Amino acid sequence: MKEPEIYSPREECGIFGVYGHPEAANLVFLGLYALQHRGQEGAGICSSQGDLYLEKGMGLVSEIFNDPKVLKSLPGTIAIGHNRYSTAGGSFLKNVQPIMANFSLGSIALAHNGNLTNADALRRLLEREGAIFQTNSDSEVILHLIANSRENTCINKLVDALSIIKGAYSLLILRNKEMIAIRDPFGVRPLSLGTLNGAYVVSSETCAFDLIGATYIRDIEPGEILIINENGLDSYRPFEVNKKAQCVFEFIYFSRPDSNIFGDLNVSLLRKRFGRQLAIESYVDADMVIPVPDSGVSSTLGFSDQSCIPFEFGLIRNHYVGRTFIEPKNNIRHFGVKVKLNPISKILKGKRVVVVDDSIVRGTTSKKIVKMIREIGNAKEVHMRISSPSTISPCFYGIDTPTRNELIASTHREDEIRKYITADSLAYLSLEGLRSTLPNPDDFCYACFDGVYPIEFQKAACSSKMLELTVV
Ligand code: AMP
Repeated sequence: MKEPEIYSPREECGIFGVYGHPEAANLVFLGLYALQHRGQEGAGICSSQGDLYLEKGMGLVSEIFNDPKVLKSLPGTIAIGHNRYSTAGGSFLKNVQPIMANFSLGSIALAHNGNLTNADALRRLLEREGAIFQTNSDSEVILHLIANSRENTCINKLVDALSIIKGAYSLLILRNKEMIAIRDPFGVRPLSLGTLNGAYVVSSETCAFDLIGATYIRDIEPGEILIINENGLDSYRPFEVNKKAQCVFEFIYFSRPDSNIFGDLNVSLLRKRFGRQLAIESYVDADMVIPVPDSGVSSTLGFSDQSCIPFEFGLIRNHYVGRTFIEPKNNIRHFGVKVKLNPISKILKGKRVVVVDDSIVRGTTSKKIVKMIREIGNAKEVHMRISSPSTISPCFYGIDTPTRNELIASTHREDEIRKYITADSLAYLSLEGLRSTLPNPDDFCYACFDGVYPIEFQKAACSSKMLELTVV
Protein backbone atom coordinates (compact mmCIF):
# COMPACT_ATOMS: atom_id res chain seq x y z
CA MET A 1 0.00 0.00 0.00
CA LYS A 2 1.27 3.47 -0.89
CA GLU A 3 2.52 5.42 2.10
CA PRO A 4 0.20 8.40 2.52
CA GLU A 5 1.52 11.94 2.77
CA ILE A 6 2.09 12.95 6.35
CA TYR A 7 0.27 16.23 6.89
CA SER A 8 1.20 17.38 10.32
CA PRO A 9 4.74 17.34 11.69
CA ARG A 10 5.43 14.78 14.34
CA GLU A 11 5.91 16.16 17.80
CA GLU A 12 8.28 13.83 19.59
CA CYS A 13 10.38 16.41 21.35
CA GLY A 14 12.28 17.51 24.43
CA ILE A 15 11.75 20.70 26.42
CA PHE A 16 13.85 22.43 29.06
CA GLY A 17 13.43 25.70 30.98
CA VAL A 18 15.20 27.77 33.62
CA TYR A 19 13.79 30.48 35.88
CA GLY A 20 15.97 32.80 37.94
CA HIS A 21 19.54 32.04 36.92
CA PRO A 22 22.07 34.51 35.45
CA GLU A 23 23.22 31.83 32.99
CA ALA A 24 19.70 30.83 31.95
CA ALA A 25 20.34 30.42 28.20
CA ASN A 26 23.61 28.53 28.78
CA LEU A 27 21.83 26.13 31.13
CA VAL A 28 19.04 25.60 28.61
CA PHE A 29 21.67 24.85 25.99
CA LEU A 30 23.12 22.15 28.28
CA GLY A 31 19.65 20.83 29.09
CA LEU A 32 18.80 20.50 25.42
CA TYR A 33 22.15 18.82 24.87
CA ALA A 34 21.18 16.15 27.41
CA LEU A 35 17.76 15.79 25.76
CA GLN A 36 19.16 15.50 22.24
CA HIS A 37 17.84 11.92 21.92
CA ARG A 38 14.27 13.33 21.99
CA GLY A 39 14.74 15.18 18.71
CA GLN A 40 17.51 15.97 16.30
CA GLU A 41 15.87 17.93 13.53
CA GLY A 42 16.21 21.36 15.06
CA ALA A 43 16.37 23.26 18.32
CA GLY A 44 15.67 26.68 19.72
CA ILE A 45 16.08 28.77 22.85
CA CYS A 46 14.04 31.78 23.88
CA SER A 47 15.17 33.97 26.77
CA SER A 48 13.68 36.92 28.58
CA GLN A 49 15.24 40.10 29.83
CA GLY A 50 12.05 42.07 29.86
CA ASP A 51 11.85 41.54 26.10
CA LEU A 52 12.02 38.06 24.59
CA TYR A 53 15.00 36.94 22.50
CA LEU A 54 14.86 33.90 20.23
CA GLU A 55 17.51 31.81 18.45
CA LYS A 56 16.71 28.64 16.56
CA GLY A 57 18.13 26.52 13.81
CA MET A 58 18.18 23.19 12.05
CA GLY A 59 20.41 20.33 13.20
CA LEU A 60 21.88 19.27 16.52
CA VAL A 61 22.00 21.51 19.59
CA SER A 62 25.80 21.62 19.45
CA GLU A 63 25.71 22.73 15.81
CA ILE A 64 23.10 25.46 16.30
CA PHE A 65 24.65 26.97 19.42
CA ASN A 66 28.33 26.29 18.68
CA ASP A 67 29.11 29.97 18.20
CA PRO A 68 29.32 31.60 21.68
CA LYS A 69 27.85 34.74 20.12
CA VAL A 70 24.55 32.93 19.62
CA LEU A 71 24.15 32.13 23.31
CA LYS A 72 25.36 35.62 24.25
CA SER A 73 22.49 37.03 22.19
CA LEU A 74 20.06 35.35 24.62
CA PRO A 75 20.24 37.54 27.74
CA GLY A 76 18.20 37.34 30.92
CA THR A 77 17.56 35.02 33.82
CA ILE A 78 14.64 33.09 32.31
CA ALA A 79 14.83 30.86 29.23
CA ILE A 80 13.07 27.93 27.63
CA GLY A 81 14.26 25.57 24.91
CA HIS A 82 13.02 22.86 22.61
CA ASN A 83 14.50 19.95 20.65
CA ARG A 84 12.50 19.01 17.63
CA TYR A 85 12.07 15.60 16.10
CA SER A 86 12.35 14.95 12.38
CA THR A 87 9.41 15.85 10.18
CA ALA A 88 8.23 14.34 6.95
CA GLY A 89 7.52 17.46 4.94
CA GLY A 90 7.09 21.18 4.73
CA SER A 91 9.45 23.97 5.52
CA PHE A 92 11.49 22.95 8.51
CA LEU A 93 12.90 26.00 10.28
CA LYS A 94 9.52 27.64 10.70
CA ASN A 95 8.37 24.61 12.72
CA VAL A 96 11.31 24.67 15.10
CA GLN A 97 10.28 25.84 18.56
CA PRO A 98 9.97 27.81 20.81
CA ILE A 99 7.30 29.64 18.84
CA MET A 100 7.10 33.31 19.77
CA ALA A 101 4.19 35.72 19.39
CA ASN A 102 2.78 38.95 20.77
CA PHE A 103 -0.69 39.16 22.25
CA SER A 104 -2.72 41.55 24.37
CA LEU A 105 -0.71 40.74 27.52
CA GLY A 106 2.73 41.10 25.90
CA SER A 107 5.19 38.68 24.36
CA ILE A 108 4.88 34.94 24.77
CA ALA A 109 6.92 31.93 23.66
CA LEU A 110 5.91 28.30 23.80
CA ALA A 111 7.69 24.93 23.68
CA HIS A 112 5.56 21.80 23.34
CA ASN A 113 6.23 18.10 23.71
CA GLY A 114 3.34 15.87 22.72
CA ASN A 115 0.69 15.77 20.07
CA LEU A 116 -2.72 17.40 20.03
CA THR A 117 -5.52 15.21 18.73
CA ASN A 118 -7.91 17.99 17.71
CA ALA A 119 -5.36 20.45 16.31
CA ASP A 120 -6.42 20.13 12.67
CA ALA A 121 -10.04 20.95 13.41
CA LEU A 122 -9.09 23.82 15.71
CA ARG A 123 -6.72 25.22 13.12
CA ARG A 124 -9.45 25.19 10.46
CA LEU A 125 -11.81 26.92 12.88
CA LEU A 126 -9.24 29.56 13.81
CA GLU A 127 -8.34 30.13 10.17
CA ARG A 128 -11.99 30.63 9.32
CA GLU A 129 -12.05 33.30 12.00
CA GLY A 130 -9.09 35.06 10.40
CA ALA A 131 -6.07 33.62 12.21
CA ILE A 132 -2.88 33.57 10.16
CA PHE A 133 -0.64 30.63 11.03
CA GLN A 134 3.10 30.86 10.63
CA THR A 135 3.93 27.20 11.18
CA ASN A 136 2.15 23.95 10.45
CA SER A 137 2.80 22.59 13.92
CA ASP A 138 0.06 21.66 16.38
CA SER A 139 1.63 23.85 18.97
CA GLU A 140 0.83 27.14 17.28
CA VAL A 141 -2.86 26.39 17.77
CA ILE A 142 -2.31 26.71 21.51
CA LEU A 143 -0.82 30.19 21.12
CA HIS A 144 -3.74 31.31 18.96
CA LEU A 145 -6.24 29.99 21.49
CA ILE A 146 -4.47 31.82 24.32
CA ALA A 147 -4.45 35.06 22.30
CA ASN A 148 -8.09 34.62 21.28
CA SER A 149 -9.40 34.08 24.80
CA ARG A 150 -11.65 36.84 26.08
CA GLU A 151 -10.41 36.39 29.64
CA ASN A 152 -8.33 39.19 31.16
CA THR A 153 -5.62 37.41 33.10
CA CYS A 154 -2.93 35.15 31.77
CA ILE A 155 -3.93 32.19 33.92
CA ASN A 156 -7.56 32.47 32.83
CA LYS A 157 -6.54 32.75 29.19
CA LEU A 158 -4.42 29.63 29.63
CA VAL A 159 -7.22 27.69 31.27
CA ASP A 160 -9.52 28.80 28.48
CA ALA A 161 -7.14 27.60 25.78
CA LEU A 162 -6.23 24.35 27.49
CA SER A 163 -9.85 23.42 28.07
CA ILE A 164 -10.33 23.40 24.28
CA ILE A 165 -7.29 21.39 23.22
CA LYS A 166 -7.18 17.61 23.45
CA GLY A 167 -4.26 15.28 23.39
CA ALA A 168 -0.82 15.12 24.89
CA TYR A 169 1.03 18.20 25.96
CA SER A 170 3.90 18.97 28.23
CA LEU A 171 4.42 22.69 27.77
CA LEU A 172 6.80 25.42 28.74
CA ILE A 173 5.63 28.98 28.29
CA LEU A 174 7.86 32.02 28.64
CA ARG A 175 6.53 35.49 29.29
CA ASN A 176 8.45 38.66 30.06
CA LYS A 177 8.80 37.91 33.76
CA GLU A 178 7.62 34.37 34.25
CA MET A 179 7.89 30.79 33.12
CA ILE A 180 4.90 28.45 33.11
CA ALA A 181 5.10 24.64 33.08
CA ILE A 182 2.02 22.63 32.12
CA ARG A 183 1.20 18.93 31.81
CA ASP A 184 -1.99 17.62 30.22
CA PRO A 185 -4.57 16.03 32.54
CA PHE A 186 -3.54 12.52 31.46
CA GLY A 187 0.16 13.22 32.04
CA VAL A 188 1.07 11.52 28.77
CA ARG A 189 4.56 13.02 28.40
CA PRO A 190 6.94 13.43 31.33
CA LEU A 191 7.89 16.80 32.83
CA SER A 192 9.97 17.28 35.97
CA LEU A 193 10.71 20.22 38.24
CA GLY A 194 14.14 20.74 39.77
CA THR A 195 16.22 23.37 41.48
CA LEU A 196 19.73 24.73 41.01
CA ASN A 197 21.24 27.31 43.37
CA GLY A 198 17.86 28.86 44.09
CA ALA A 199 16.79 28.81 40.43
CA TYR A 200 14.01 26.55 39.11
CA VAL A 201 14.53 24.19 36.22
CA VAL A 202 11.95 22.16 34.30
CA SER A 203 12.84 19.30 31.98
CA SER A 204 11.26 16.54 29.92
CA GLU A 205 13.67 14.15 31.61
CA THR A 206 15.85 14.27 34.70
CA CYS A 207 19.03 13.27 32.83
CA ALA A 208 19.26 16.98 31.97
CA PHE A 209 19.20 17.88 35.69
CA ASP A 210 22.17 15.59 36.28
CA LEU A 211 24.25 17.35 33.65
CA ILE A 212 23.79 20.81 35.15
CA GLY A 213 23.88 19.62 38.78
CA ALA A 214 20.23 20.42 39.51
CA THR A 215 18.22 18.57 42.14
CA TYR A 216 14.91 16.92 41.28
CA ILE A 217 11.98 18.28 43.32
CA ARG A 218 8.93 16.57 41.83
CA ASP A 219 7.01 15.95 38.61
CA ILE A 220 4.73 18.61 37.21
CA GLU A 221 1.47 16.82 38.00
CA PRO A 222 -0.99 15.75 35.30
CA GLY A 223 -3.39 18.66 34.76
CA GLU A 224 -1.16 21.11 36.63
CA ILE A 225 -0.32 24.65 35.55
CA LEU A 226 2.75 25.77 37.47
CA ILE A 227 3.57 29.47 37.29
CA ILE A 228 7.09 30.37 38.31
CA ASN A 229 7.77 34.07 38.88
CA GLU A 230 9.16 36.50 41.46
CA ASN A 231 6.56 35.26 43.97
CA GLY A 232 7.89 31.71 43.72
CA LEU A 233 5.78 28.75 42.62
CA ASP A 234 2.06 29.05 42.08
CA SER A 235 0.27 25.83 41.21
CA TYR A 236 -3.17 25.64 39.57
CA ARG A 237 -5.08 22.45 38.93
CA PRO A 238 -8.14 23.64 37.03
CA PHE A 239 -8.80 20.37 35.23
CA GLU A 240 -10.33 17.21 36.51
CA VAL A 241 -7.81 14.38 36.52
CA ASN A 242 -9.73 11.15 36.20
CA LYS A 243 -7.16 8.76 34.96
CA LYS A 244 -3.48 9.06 34.24
CA ALA A 245 -2.32 7.78 30.86
CA GLN A 246 1.44 8.14 31.03
CA CYS A 247 3.17 6.84 27.92
CA VAL A 248 4.66 3.43 28.66
CA PHE A 249 6.78 3.70 25.50
CA GLU A 250 8.83 6.40 27.25
CA PHE A 251 10.12 3.56 29.45
CA ILE A 252 10.43 1.04 26.66
CA TYR A 253 12.33 3.11 24.14
CA PHE A 254 12.16 6.84 24.20
CA SER A 255 13.55 8.22 27.46
CA ARG A 256 17.18 7.92 28.41
CA PRO A 257 17.99 5.06 30.81
CA ASP A 258 19.56 7.46 33.31
CA SER A 259 16.33 9.47 33.60
CA ASN A 260 13.75 9.07 36.35
CA ILE A 261 10.30 9.87 35.00
CA PHE A 262 6.63 9.48 35.89
CA GLY A 263 7.00 9.71 39.65
CA ASP A 264 10.75 9.24 39.85
CA LEU A 265 10.88 5.76 38.26
CA ASN A 266 14.27 4.97 36.78
CA VAL A 267 14.08 4.00 33.12
CA SER A 268 17.02 1.59 33.16
CA LEU A 269 15.77 -0.29 36.23
CA LEU A 270 12.34 -0.69 34.66
CA ARG A 271 13.85 -1.94 31.42
CA LYS A 272 15.76 -4.54 33.45
CA ARG A 273 12.44 -5.66 34.90
CA PHE A 274 10.99 -5.93 31.38
CA GLY A 275 13.96 -8.15 30.46
CA ARG A 276 13.52 -10.37 33.51
CA GLN A 277 9.84 -10.81 32.80
CA LEU A 278 10.61 -11.55 29.16
CA ALA A 279 13.01 -14.31 30.23
CA ILE A 280 10.35 -15.78 32.53
CA GLU A 281 7.86 -15.81 29.68
CA SER A 282 10.04 -16.93 26.80
CA TYR A 283 13.21 -18.64 28.00
CA VAL A 284 15.18 -20.44 25.31
CA ASP A 285 18.29 -22.54 25.72
CA ALA A 286 21.20 -20.50 24.33
CA ASP A 287 24.91 -19.73 24.75
CA MET A 288 24.60 -15.99 25.11
CA VAL A 289 22.15 -13.11 25.17
CA ILE A 290 23.11 -9.93 23.33
CA PRO A 291 21.42 -6.52 23.23
CA VAL A 292 20.56 -4.44 20.22
CA PRO A 293 22.41 -1.38 21.49
CA ASP A 294 21.60 1.04 23.01
CA SER A 295 17.92 0.70 23.79
CA GLY A 296 18.10 -3.08 24.35
CA VAL A 297 20.98 -3.06 26.85
CA SER A 298 19.14 -2.74 30.17
CA SER A 299 16.46 -5.29 29.28
CA THR A 300 19.17 -7.72 28.10
CA LEU A 301 20.84 -7.41 31.50
CA GLY A 302 17.52 -8.35 33.09
CA PHE A 303 17.05 -11.23 30.67
CA SER A 304 20.56 -12.50 31.44
CA ASP A 305 20.06 -12.18 35.23
CA GLN A 306 16.83 -14.11 35.11
CA SER A 307 17.82 -16.80 32.60
CA CYS A 308 21.46 -17.22 33.72
CA ILE A 309 22.43 -17.02 30.04
CA PRO A 310 25.68 -15.01 29.80
CA PHE A 311 25.43 -11.39 28.59
CA GLU A 312 27.70 -10.49 25.70
CA PHE A 313 28.17 -7.49 23.45
CA GLY A 314 27.73 -9.17 20.08
CA LEU A 315 26.62 -6.10 18.16
CA ILE A 316 28.59 -2.87 18.25
CA ARG A 317 26.96 0.41 17.55
CA ASN A 318 28.50 3.33 15.72
CA HIS A 319 27.54 6.20 17.97
CA TYR A 320 28.08 8.84 15.34
CA VAL A 321 25.02 7.77 13.37
CA GLY A 322 21.66 9.22 14.44
CA ARG A 323 18.77 6.96 15.35
CA THR A 324 18.08 5.22 12.05
CA PHE A 325 14.33 5.30 12.48
CA ILE A 326 14.38 9.06 12.66
CA GLU A 327 15.61 9.48 9.08
CA PRO A 328 12.59 10.52 7.04
CA LYS A 329 13.30 8.52 3.91
CA ASN A 330 12.92 4.74 3.70
CA ASN A 331 16.09 4.05 1.75
CA ILE A 332 18.19 5.89 4.35
CA ARG A 333 16.59 3.87 7.14
CA HIS A 334 17.34 0.54 5.44
CA PHE A 335 20.91 1.57 4.81
CA GLY A 336 21.16 2.94 8.33
CA VAL A 337 20.93 -0.38 10.10
CA LYS A 338 24.16 -1.52 8.44
CA VAL A 339 25.85 1.77 9.10
CA LYS A 340 24.80 1.68 12.73
CA LEU A 341 25.41 -1.89 13.89
CA ASN A 342 28.21 -4.36 13.31
CA PRO A 343 28.27 -7.95 14.63
CA ILE A 344 31.42 -9.38 16.24
CA SER A 345 31.84 -12.72 14.55
CA LYS A 346 34.63 -13.85 16.90
CA ILE A 347 32.02 -13.76 19.70
CA LEU A 348 29.00 -15.02 17.76
CA LYS A 349 30.48 -17.74 15.54
CA GLY A 350 28.80 -21.13 16.02
CA LYS A 351 26.77 -19.89 19.02
CA ARG A 352 23.10 -20.06 19.89
CA VAL A 353 22.30 -16.39 20.36
CA VAL A 354 19.34 -14.62 21.99
CA VAL A 355 19.01 -11.04 20.70
CA VAL A 356 16.98 -8.57 22.75
CA ASP A 357 15.54 -5.39 21.23
CA ASP A 358 12.99 -3.02 22.71
CA SER A 359 10.43 -3.12 19.90
CA ILE A 360 9.56 -4.15 16.37
CA VAL A 361 7.79 -1.47 14.37
CA ARG A 362 7.93 -2.26 10.65
CA GLY A 363 10.24 -5.25 11.13
CA THR A 364 13.01 -3.82 8.97
CA THR A 365 15.57 -3.51 11.76
CA SER A 366 15.03 -7.00 13.20
CA LYS A 367 15.24 -8.58 9.77
CA LYS A 368 18.58 -6.88 9.04
CA ILE A 369 19.93 -7.70 12.48
CA VAL A 370 19.06 -11.39 12.33
CA LYS A 371 20.59 -11.61 8.85
CA MET A 372 23.77 -9.87 10.01
CA ILE A 373 24.17 -12.06 13.08
CA ARG A 374 23.68 -15.20 11.04
CA GLU A 375 25.62 -14.26 7.87
CA ILE A 376 28.39 -11.98 9.13
CA GLY A 377 28.47 -13.19 12.72
CA ASN A 378 28.10 -16.87 11.71
CA ALA A 379 25.84 -17.61 14.67
CA LYS A 380 24.27 -21.09 14.76
CA GLU A 381 20.85 -20.00 16.04
CA VAL A 382 19.28 -16.54 16.36
CA HIS A 383 16.39 -16.13 18.80
CA MET A 384 14.71 -12.72 18.83
CA ARG A 385 13.21 -11.44 22.07
CA ILE A 386 11.33 -8.15 22.27
CA SER A 387 11.04 -6.35 25.61
CA SER A 388 7.61 -4.89 24.80
CA PRO A 389 4.32 -6.31 23.50
CA SER A 390 3.75 -6.27 19.76
CA THR A 391 3.11 -2.78 18.37
CA ILE A 392 -0.27 -3.03 16.69
CA SER A 393 -1.62 0.54 16.77
CA PRO A 394 -0.21 3.94 15.88
CA CYS A 395 0.42 6.56 18.54
CA PHE A 396 -1.51 9.84 18.31
CA TYR A 397 0.05 11.31 21.41
CA GLY A 398 3.57 12.10 20.29
CA ILE A 399 5.54 8.94 19.61
CA ASP A 400 6.48 8.68 15.98
CA THR A 401 4.90 5.48 14.71
CA PRO A 402 3.87 4.80 11.13
CA THR A 403 0.32 4.10 9.99
CA ARG A 404 -1.43 1.01 11.24
CA ASN A 405 -0.94 -0.84 7.97
CA GLU A 406 2.81 -0.39 8.17
CA LEU A 407 3.05 -1.87 11.67
CA ILE A 408 4.06 -5.42 10.94
CA ALA A 409 2.33 -6.81 14.03
CA SER A 410 -0.92 -5.21 12.99
CA THR A 411 -1.05 -7.12 9.73
CA HIS A 412 0.91 -10.30 10.54
CA ARG A 413 0.76 -13.08 13.11
CA GLU A 414 3.77 -13.73 15.35
CA ASP A 415 4.82 -16.84 13.39
CA GLU A 416 4.64 -14.83 10.14
CA ILE A 417 6.82 -12.11 11.66
CA ARG A 418 9.32 -14.74 12.84
CA LYS A 419 9.48 -16.06 9.31
CA TYR A 420 9.82 -12.55 7.86
CA ILE A 421 12.73 -11.63 10.13
CA THR A 422 14.19 -15.16 9.59
CA ALA A 423 14.74 -15.81 13.31
CA ASP A 424 14.78 -19.34 14.77
CA SER A 425 12.27 -18.13 17.33
CA LEU A 426 10.54 -14.88 18.23
CA ALA A 427 8.77 -13.78 21.40
CA TYR A 428 7.39 -10.49 22.68
CA LEU A 429 6.83 -9.47 26.29
CA SER A 430 3.14 -9.99 27.05
CA LEU A 431 0.98 -7.01 27.92
CA GLU A 432 0.12 -8.60 31.28
CA GLY A 433 3.84 -9.19 31.82
CA LEU A 434 4.62 -5.55 31.05
CA ARG A 435 1.87 -4.37 33.40
CA SER A 436 3.15 -6.65 36.16
CA THR A 437 6.51 -4.85 36.14
CA LEU A 438 5.01 -1.38 36.68
CA PRO A 439 4.20 -0.01 40.14
CA ASN A 440 0.82 1.49 39.12
CA PRO A 441 -0.05 -0.25 35.86
CA ASP A 442 -3.41 1.53 35.46
CA ASP A 443 -1.63 4.89 35.30
CA PHE A 444 -0.18 4.20 31.84
CA CYS A 445 -1.25 4.38 28.20
CA TYR A 446 -0.74 1.12 26.27
CA ALA A 447 -2.56 2.21 23.10
CA CYS A 448 0.27 1.14 20.79
CA PHE A 449 -0.05 -2.38 22.17
CA ASP A 450 -3.78 -2.80 22.76
CA GLY A 451 -5.39 -0.13 20.57
CA VAL A 452 -7.25 1.33 23.55
CA TYR A 453 -6.92 5.09 23.23
CA PRO A 454 -7.43 6.94 26.52
CA ILE A 455 -7.77 10.38 24.88
CA GLU A 456 -10.31 10.91 22.14
CA PHE A 457 -9.21 12.16 18.77
CA GLN A 458 -11.14 13.47 15.83
CA LYS A 459 -11.36 10.96 13.07
CA ALA A 460 -12.03 13.72 10.56
CA ALA A 461 -8.69 15.30 11.30
CA CYS A 462 -6.36 15.09 8.35
CA SER A 463 -3.26 13.51 9.79
CA SER A 464 -2.49 10.45 7.72
CA LYS A 465 -2.32 8.14 10.70
CA MET A 466 -5.84 9.11 11.69
CA LEU A 467 -7.17 8.71 8.19
CA GLU A 468 -5.61 5.31 8.13
CA LEU A 469 -7.36 4.43 11.34
CA THR A 470 -10.80 5.27 9.97
CA VAL A 471 -10.40 2.85 7.09
CA VAL A 472 -9.16 -0.24 8.93
P1 AMP B 1 11.57 -1.20 12.61
O1 AMP B 1 12.78 -1.46 11.78
O2 AMP B 1 10.61 -0.31 11.88
O3 AMP B 1 10.91 -2.45 13.10
O4 AMP B 1 12.02 -0.36 13.87
C1 AMP B 1 12.41 -1.00 15.06
C2 AMP B 1 13.58 -0.30 15.68
O5 AMP B 1 13.29 1.09 15.80
C3 AMP B 1 13.88 -0.86 17.04
O6 AMP B 1 15.25 -1.19 17.07
C4 AMP B 1 13.57 0.28 18.02
O7 AMP B 1 14.62 0.43 18.95
C5 AMP B 1 13.45 1.51 17.15
N1 AMP B 1 12.26 2.33 17.45
C6 AMP B 1 11.08 1.93 17.91
N2 AMP B 1 10.22 2.96 18.03
C7 AMP B 1 10.88 4.06 17.60
C8 AMP B 1 10.57 5.45 17.48
N3 AMP B 1 9.37 5.91 17.79
N4 AMP B 1 11.51 6.28 17.02
C9 AMP B 1 12.70 5.83 16.67
N5 AMP B 1 13.08 4.52 16.75
C10 AMP B 1 12.18 3.65 17.21
